[in-house]
Amino acid sequence: MTPADRVSRAKGLFSRLGFAPGRRDEARARGGTQARDGEDHQIRRELLADISNFILTHDLEVNASTLRIAFDLITGTDEQLSVRVEERVAAGEPITVEWLEDIALHSPRDEGEQGLQELVAELGTTMGAFARTASDARTATTQYSTALEQHAEDLSDCNETEVGEEITRVVREVLTHSRVLESELNRSEQEVNKLEKRLADARREAEIDFLTSLPNRRAFERIYEREVGLAAQNGEPICVAFCDIDHFKNVNDAHGHEAGDRVLRHVGETLASICNDTCHVARHGGEEFGVVLRGRNANETRALIDEVRADLASRHMVNRTTEVPFGQITFSAGIAEVHAYTGVREALRAADDALYQAKRTGRNRVVVASPAGS
Ligand code: GH3
Ligand code: MG
Ligand code: MG
Repeated sequence: MTPADRVSRAKGLFSRLGFAPGRRDEARARGGTQARDGEDHQIRRELLADISNFILTHDLEVNASTLRIAFDLITGTDEQLSVRVEERVAAGEPITVEWLEDIALHSPRDEGEQGLQELVAELGTTMGAFARTASDARTATTQYSTALEQHAEDLSDCNETEVGEEITRVVREVLTHSRVLESELNRSEQEVNKLEKRLADARREAEIDFLTSLPNRRAFERIYEREVGLAAQNGEPICVAFCDIDHFKNVNDAHGHEAGDRVLRHVGETLASICNDTCHVARHGGEEFGVVLRGRNANETRALIDEVRADLASRHMVNRTTEVPFGQITFSAGIAEVHAYTGVREALRAADDALYQAKRTGRNRVVVASPAGS
């Protein structure tokens, strides 16, 4: 078995656990939900075996970094990494620690996460300084009060001129200290505000897919939950859909990965054309998009997505670097009306099952899931 085969197999295994977006079709074909539940232990064993196989096959050092990279690769958590490794293996080039770390380091996902971590650390330090300044201010206020009380007692023994001079001196001293503390507090407050804004920007960026600029899978989860909540509040129907590009591997194989990226972006843009306040499209992973549509029932959702499907299928796309036509680019979609299921996760699974049905029955089509008992 080649490393690429192993990657594919492990992705399928882990997809059955619901951890990875790709290859769920294979998993379903091999057993369905009940089999999935009974196989967890075996699957974990196989995952560990696949991780060690990967490390041993490529004669890699066993350390936190290679283990994490192997995990991301085998579970399909880092789709780009999987694609790069598959390509490198196919080209007969060696997989080395340096090469892996280099591409993992330059992966936008990691950059985003690292940036966030750095910001959080920075925010923590600034908040610490802010808290210290605030505490200094409190201590100083207490000290002033004590000092003033002391002075008030001492002053009773002085004549009028001495009292006046002493009061002026004490007030000046208190004022000088207060000004210093005030400006320190202001500076700390401004720094915290600036950092909070950067943190909010970084959080937003961490939820955007770098290739398509659409919300990523993490954002999709958040949007889905939020829209389900809104639909419940407003008494509206809500649907969830998955759209997966058909035979996309062939596009990569025939035109290369970069051209594949352009096609992916184009499909993302086409789907995003239906976005508005009640319709949200996200890149769910690989060449699959998630759509959440509030205020539409399953039939209305089907009509809308089918319109996009037909629009895309009617285009004649050409690879602009080689002038070679891509051929027809299509996607298949599965839709579930959320309220027809016992929970939001069940609805996601139903939409995914419907997508599989669309693939199995010929692709380039939209299938609405039928809830059990309907
Ligand atoms: P199906 O109709 O059954 O969905 O076939 P498929 O070829 O689309 O599906 P498969 O899961 O076999 O292959 C998906 C391919 O998508 C493999 C992977 O290399 C490619 N892919 C995933 N993410 C990206 C990406 O970001 N860019 C490019 N160019 N390709 C990607
Ligand atoms: Mg797919
Ligand atoms: Mg596909």
